[in-house]
Amino acid sequence: MKELIKALYNDNLTKEDLLFLLSLEKKEDIEQLRQRAYEVMKQNVGEFVYLRGLIEFSNLCINDCYYCGIRKSNSKVRRYTLEEDEVLECVEFAVKNGYGSIVLQSGERKDSRFIDYVCSLIEKIKSKTRSQQLPNGVGITLCVGEQSYNTYKRFFEAGAHRYLLRIETSNPELFAKIHPPEVSFERRKECLYYLKDIGFQVGTGVMIGLPGQTIEDLTNDIVFFKEIDADMIGMGPYIVHRETPFAIYEKYFQENKYNLYLLSLKMIAVTRLFLKDVNIASTTALQALYPFGREEGLRFGANVIMPLMTPSNYRKEYLLYEGKPCIDEFSDDCGECLIARIENINRPIGYNNWGDSIHFKRKSQPKKD
Ligand code: SF4
Repeated sequence: MKELIKALYNDNLTKEDLLFLLSLEKKEDIEQLRQRAYEVMKQNVGEFVYLRGLIEFSNLCINDCYYCGIRKSNSKVRRYTLEEDEVLECVEFAVKNGYGSIVLQSGERKDSRFIDYVCSLIEKIKSKTRSQQLPNGVGITLCVGEQSYNTYKRFFEAGAHRYLLRIETSNPELFAKIHPPEVSFERRKECLYYLKDIGFQVGTGVMIGLPGQTIEDLTNDIVFFKEIDADMIGMGPYIVHRETPFAIYEKYFQENKYNLYLLSLKMIAVTRLFLKDVNIASTTALQALYPFGREEGLRFGANVIMPLMTPSNYRKEYLLYEGKPCIDEFSDDCGECLIARIENINRPIGYNNWGDSIHFKRKSQPKKD
């Protein structure tokens, strides 16, 4: 007990502390961890939950990651790319409902047609959403994978100001086991540094419960977030998709669902304790494991939620994993349901607010002598 209290209140957590906290198993210990993470969240980023309307605008991808349901080899997926008007409609819905930010997410493509399309989308979204409430338009987070320095720069100059690029695991050997040889750990890391250099608020994250992953790996993942000085974290449980080479892990996954869920919540809490003032998303994958998973993520220290805005007729085609929730709902139902869920746990919602990372703001402020 003494050791737990010491770790929970240690302002400079060591790797051993992180490992110890991630290994907690007793219900009452995990509850103490949750309470402390919530307190640290409250002190550093406040209790507001910020909304990012998630638009999965294309499921075309040039990659074949072994765990992913929309990998290029999955011929059972009907491929789509939303028309510009369809994206703008989703954005309009998000803005009307007070979501200060959106996330534009797709599979990875590097061809100029795609890059031009994304730049033009960003510019149009920006010019159409400037208003009294959002003088600089809706906040745009991009999530379109690994790109060249110049492409990232074009996205930034077009008006996107946040970028999500998950490292998936900070263990290079494990990374190599879950990706085909053409996807490299070093390249992924390099992209994260490009994004920082350009001035994006940078988000990264990992999958929790990957086959062969250890608690030490997860500990190192949290240390990695600090090393690259991430501004935002988005991580969730690894959920098996049957149309991937990792379908062989289905049985193991089904048998370990509950532990995986708990581990994911502990990862949120321990990341909050260690990084303090970053934005942490409570991801949809948590809800795939437990109906109230996303609320629980918020209770364990997360402060961002991404309501699904993708038009309902495309949602079934963007299944990165199986059992993804909300795929049959309309955007209105989805948004309303999530907001009711957030209100149910007494968290205020940061309407019409970009909800930028306080960590990013702090480090961008000129230092006083
Ligand atoms: S994880 Fe991303 S890059 Fe890899 S196959 Fe899926 S969509 Fe493509």
